[in-house]
Amino acid sequence: MKSQPHIGIIRDQRFGLHKTGLSHPESPERLAAPYRMLDYEFPGEFTELSAQLATLEQIEAVHLPPYVAMVLATAKRRFTNLAADTTACADSYLAAWLAAGACVQGVDALLDGRMQVCLALVRPPGHHALPAKAGGFCIFNNLAIAARHAQKRGLQRILILDWDLHHGNGIQDIFYDEKEVFYLSSHHCQSYPHSGMWEETGQDLGQGYTLNLCIPGGFGDRDIMHLYREILTQVVERFGPQLILVACGFDAHAEDPLGNCALSAEAFAGLAALVRTLGPQDNDAPLLLALEGGYDPAVLASCLRRVLEGLSGAGEQVWRADSPKAAELVTRAKGVHQAFGVWTG
Ligand SMILES: [Zn+2]
Repeated sequence: MKSQPHIGIIRDQRFGLHKTGLSHPESPERLAAPYRMLDYEFPGEFTELSAQLATLEQIEAVHLPPYVAMVLATAKRRFTNLAADTTACADSYLAAWLAAGACVQGVDALLDGRMQVCLALVRPPGHHALPAKAGGFCIFNNLAIAARHAQKRGLQRILILDWDLHHGNGIQDIFYDEKEVFYLSSHHCQSYPHSGMWEETGQDLGQGYTLNLCIPGGFGDRDIMHLYREILTQVVERFGPQLILVACGFDAHAEDPLGNCALSAEAFAGLAALVRTLGPQDNDAPLLLALEGGYDPAVLASCLRRVLEGLSGAGEQVWRADSPKAAELVTRAKGVHQAFGVWTG
């Protein structure tokens, strides 16, 4: 049993400046609810930091300069459509810049030993953002920028784990031909952005370092715990990450308005507890979780509460759950990846 880690939280009221328009699901209230929960449930319990801006160099380690210039130009307009589903107001560039910066800052706090776990409660989310394209409510790819920063600090093996309901096509695309960043995503393949099929496994040197787990609609707590217990344990053991980044979305919750899965908040406690215990035994990989999706603010707040409890050691009771549905997916994942020998065997 590991001792309770030192947990830090990055939060900032300026994320609320990113206004997306009436009835858009990616709204400022998504953060207001969890921030209230933190103040009420965990007053003074965690180290709290305000977000810092990323540097232009850090952003451009992932995004192409003309795209970054286009995002900056939105500051001159009240409203810009960056993509069919992704809008910007005059202050959105600032929130996007801070969201990326918060993740970079989290990496620094972890690598400098100021905390072992960091939770970046940011918006806009990031995992769908491509080097030159916004999409899926994402402007900059926060975790990809954080991973590039960690590489610049000398890390050679970074695991990005994505349990958001949707496939993080941006993260996959950015690291698809690299073996230094392992991308593991569980997602509903029939949902946006309709990528992340089993056979998408990476290319060139990155072959076998992208692992897509297509989960069916209705996937529940026992299913997800079985799946992650079997797969993630092996990936961490074989890949030996020096840092684990989590694209922490909650839209696979049963009550999410955009989702179609059946997880409860309990599952997220279990996932958080599992990830917390999986660093290499004598040299724990520090852990950065960055908020991605999750579109019911109250559900999001309750899931985050359970994640914090899981990171502190609760939620272990669901680990042992077995699911025939998940067992089939484990077999399929191993079958697809056997040939690469990166994490199987
Ligand atoms: Zn999502």
